[in-house]
Formats: sequence, structure tokens, C-alpha cells
Amino acid sequence: MKVAICGGGVIGTSTAYFLSRRNVEAVVVERTGVANGASGKSGGFLALDWCDGTLLAPMARRSFALHGQLAAEIGANWGYRRVDTLGVVASARRDISAYRKLPSPGWLGDGAAVHGQLGTTASTAQINPAAFTHAMMTAAIENGATLVNGCVEGISRDPKSGHVTGVMVDGAVLRCDAVVIALGPWSILACEWLPLGATMGSKGHSLVFDYAPSPQSLFVELETDDGEIAAPEINPRPDGTTYVCGLSGHDALPIDPADVLPEPGATEKLRRMTARISPDLAAAKVLAVQACYRPLTVDGLPQIGQVTDVPGAYVATGHNVWGMLNAPATGEAMAELIVEGRATTIDLAHFDPARLEPG
Ligand SMILES: Cc1cc2nc3c(=O)[nH]c(=O)nc-3n(C[C@H](O)[C@H](O)[C@H](O)COP(=O)(O)OP(=O)(O)OC[C@H]3O[C@@H](n4cnc5c(N)ncnc54)[C@H](O)[C@@H]3O)c2cc1C
Repeated sequence: MKVAICGGGVIGTSTAYFLSRRNVEAVVVERTGVANGASGKSGGFLALDWCDGTLLAPMARRSFALHGQLAAEIGANWGYRRVDTLGVVASARRDISAYRKLPSPGWLGDGAAVHGQLGTTASTAQINPAAFTHAMMTAAIENGATLVNGCVEGISRDPKSGHVTGVMVDGAVLRCDAVVIALGPWSILACEWLPLGATMGSKGHSLVFDYAPSPQSLFVELETDDGEIAAPEINPRPDGTTYVCGLSGHDALPIDPADVLPEPGATEKLRRMTARISPDLAAAKVLAVQACYRPLTVDGLPQIGQVTDVPGAYVATGHNVWGMLNAPATGEAMAELIVEGRATTIDLAHFDPARLEPG
């Protein structure tokens, strides 16, 4: 069986990896480069139990365990490590000392206070998202998968049965027995080709600093200089860099992923926000200024499963803020569904694409 996977983000490459473990021929078709979208620019923060009480909980718990297993099994380093995670309050406008419940790491400024421990090394972890996404692709290729650089433009189907026969890539048909739409926010394009609910994109900016503080992830509630409330996240990484996100963007999703750019003023604004939390971090050299779109559906849940009434068509997208966490369990379940007809490691019923109105 040959399966074409549209999109070389973390969902596409993880699906390719788990299919390749079942000796299925997986072909990933990627337009701009593996991990060029959110999968290369996200925080890479992982949590065992932060989805508890929601429909995502079983997938998140399974995926958290798989992240640990993959880091032990695959001979590549993508910066996987368990971390403590702290809740921080910071303000540019008022005294926040009443919120201080725990000692602050030395690299935080006076305007920031640790109000609680949100996770421990038993329940929270990190990965470098680009390195993980590339490692999944490399491991899949070692098992026989292939990567095609090209733009997916449509799906070809048998005129009688309606079964998928291939994907249109740069004007030519790439023959396959099944297709997986894993285009992240660009999965919206597939609404033209298949009866699929819409996936939208929500833009975020991030900075990577040349700064190596103590290894705690921080979730911050920040009152900015302008009196806005923001929620930056800070992830120090084992490679001596520190990632900061938490500033949204306004531009509409461009059709070509290569056209996703930071918006004017974003770097300065995110650096100013960072300075309110850690002046030392904000003063460090900026190694990367990034923007990307996380994929989401109208009800906030991913759509993972078979496309209604189109044999051989599958979708796995809309993972919103938890795509890095939930990629391994998604890939594993997709491989089970495609090969065995049913996912057994997690229940995909709540993520059935049929629940969404075709866009
Ligand atoms: C600022 C930010 C921080 C985040 N932090 C975290 C975090 O800490 N933890 C967490 O779990 N999640 C986090 N997320 C969410 C996570 O990054 C996403 O859910 C995840 O990356 C989505 O992966 P994907 O593979 O679905 O999509 P993408 O990564 O967008 O991949 C889609 C791919 O499709 C390709 N493509 C597009 N059009 C075509 C075409 N026509 N033909 C071929 N290829 C095409 C693109 O180039 C892209 O590589 C964060 C997201 C953002 C924006």
C-alpha cells in the first residue's frame, strides 16, 4: 500500500514514521521544507495532564508517553528533556509582590513573581520542535518512506468508485492508494478537493534568544506597558537558546507557506514584553524572529480520521496549541486506522471529521 501524506509538519512526518514502522510505503509531499510551518517555530512544550478534563486527555497522555519512548528508541537528539514548569505574574504597571509564593529563578527581574508550580519533571517536558519534526521524517526515510518537494494541488479519484487514486503535485499525478491531508492551516485548501470541514490558522510570533538560563518552562500572565494582558511562554532549551512566544498576529494566512512573515514592530513588542519578565533575557542577542499559524477548527478539536464518503481519503489536522504534544499519538492512530481499519491505542470518535460542516 502506498500512502501520500500532504504536508511535512509534525503531524505529517509523525504519520509517515508510524506508517513506515508497519512497512507501509509513505510519501510525504511538502511545499517549502519539512518543519517550515508551526512545527518548526512552536514552543515544543509537552504536558502529561494539562488536557485532563477535556476530550483531548487520552490522546495527550498517550502522546506524552510516546515522546519519552521515541526519545529512547530513536538515535537522534531533538532536545527532549523533562522540566519543572512555573506560573509567573509580571507587570509593567503595578507592584506584584503579593503574588510571590515561590522563589524566582535568578534570571527573572524584580517585576516578575513566581506564583506557583504548574508542572514537575514527572508531568512536563520539552522538545526542540524543528529537530523533532526532522527526526520523525529521517526515521521514516530510514524505514523506507520518501520525501517529495512539491505543491499539492488536488486529489485524483476513480470516476466510478470515487476511491482516491493519487494526489496532484506540481501539475502531475502522484499515484497512491490513500492520501492523508496534514497541511496544518493550509488544510483549508483541501475543502476544494474533499468534503472537509474548514481548518483555520491563528498567527503567533516568537523570538529565539542566545541565552541559557536554568531549565524551567515559564507560563506568564503579563500586564504590558500599554495595560494589555498577555500570556507569554518561555522555554529555555538545552542548546543554550531560549524561546519566547505570546504575541499574536493579524495577517491572513498566505497561500504559499514561504510568505509567512513576522509583522512590523512584532520583534520590538515581544522583546519589550520579555524585558518585563527578564531584563537579562531581553538584552541577549536575538537569533531568530519567527511567525507561524497554528491550525484550528470551529470547535477547537482536531479532525482526525477518514473523510466522509471518500474511500482512501484521511485527514489529520487542527491540533491548535497542542500539535507538538499530540503528534506521536496522532501518527500512531492514523497508521492503525489506515492499515487495520480502526485505531486501537486511542479512540478517535470525538475527532471524526464528519462532525464538521464541509467548508
Ligand atoms: C507560537 C506557537 C507556539 C506553539 N507552542 C506549542 C507547544 O509548546 N506545544 C505544542 O504541543 N504545540 C504548540 N503549538 C502548536 C503546534 O505548533 C501546531 O499544532 C503544530 O505544529 C501543527 O502541525 P501541523 O503538521 O498540523 O501543521 P504545520 O506545521 O503547519 O505543517 C503543515 C505543512 O504543510 C505544508 N504545506 C502547506 N501547503 C502545502 C501544499 N499545497 N503542498 C504541500 N505542502 C504544503 C507547509 O509548508 C507545512 O510544512 C504552538 C503553535 C504556535 C503558533
